[in-house]
Amino acid sequence: MMSFFYLLIALLLLSAPTCIALPPLPWIQERADKLERNGKKLITEDFTGDPDSFRRQPVVSNSQGIDITYLGSGGFLFQRDTTAILTAPYFSNESLQRVGVWSIEADTATIDQYRPDLKAVQAILVGHPHYDHLLDVPYVWKKHAPHTRVFGNQSMANILDSAVPKTNLHVLDNEVRVDKNSGAFVSSHGGLIQFMPLHSSHAPNIRIPLMDIEYLIAPRSVDEPLDEVPQQARDWRLGETLAYIIDFRAASDTAKVEFRIYYQDAGHMPESWHLPADGRRVDLAIVTVASANFIGQGEYIQTIRDSLRPRHWLLGHWEDFFQPYSQNPEEIYSVPFTNTESFVDTLIGRGIGGDEWVLPTPGTKLAY
Ligand SMILES: [Zn+2]
Repeated sequence: MMSFFYLLIALLLLSAPTCIALPPLPWIQERADKLERNGKKLITEDFTGDPDSFRRQPVVSNSQGIDITYLGSGGFLFQRDTTAILTAPYFSNESLQRVGVWSIEADTATIDQYRPDLKAVQAILVGHPHYDHLLDVPYVWKKHAPHTRVFGNQSMANILDSAVPKTNLHVLDNEVRVDKNSGAFVSSHGGLIQFMPLHSSHAPNIRIPLMDIEYLIAPRSVDEPLDEVPQQARDWRLGETLAYIIDFRAASDTAKVEFRIYYQDAGHMPESWHLPADGRRVDLAIVTVASANFIGQGEYIQTIRDSLRPRHWLLGHWEDFFQPYSQNPEEIYSVPFTNTESFVDTLIGRGIGGDEWVLPTPGTKLAY
């Protein structure tokens, strides 16, 4: 048994410097194109161009002209006409062995191939600076969006200190909503978009229930500015996890919120005070499927429903980011142990109708 263990470690070490990913494991991972419920496909995708091969996005009544592109992991592009906002995208999909025992770096060719047009973006929002959210941001910013500002926590700013100029980095501090009396909106595009950071938390990355063991990668924070961005995944330290309220407002009257999004990039049960003081409900909740089962899928869904009252649900951060980035459903797998089908089952079991949720694959465009 021990010799097998050493053989496995040796294989990991030997394959670590290469781009070779360990193959997906069918008994703990589901392939995107095979995800089903009662014989019906679950994903919505843009890859084949045939809208009938998978699930169409349910019809959105009273749509507001918001186009949303799911980029994979925590990356979303929200766009309305010439106004847009981006959440930290991740295309590099470093293999598990490079993350675990070797070094990591942004895959610039993959970023160049898949990043959307970012001309209309003024702000990039980072929920937390773990490598699977922040590794690609310096290159995305420098090559494709140097006109934008990057918003996030102090740990993020310290990690990016050598890569993004201070004038383009904004540490969210006083703006963070930590209770029902705090929080401030940051304005973008002359007020047509506004966003408010919300104090949040990060579900464990690994949990073994019977042994009551929980593990969170790269906890704590980076407290001093770094001379260069880290090369080890463990040094992309968490800091305070933020969720966001993102509002698209009316051109005729910027006091009027026309579409409200709740965004989180790590599993967290939203608080009762996460809605801003105006009490306006959320039009779209972007929820994190990966690791939701570690904090309890049912309670997670119920808490989102009770505290945010979303009209629509978008299920994100569910696909395996240790496999090479792809927008082909035949090459996309769920994060190990995530169980995306069970998440949808639980959602429906809690009364969320089929016209309320969508499970997109990376690259898919949705309209709200
Ligand atoms: Zn994380």
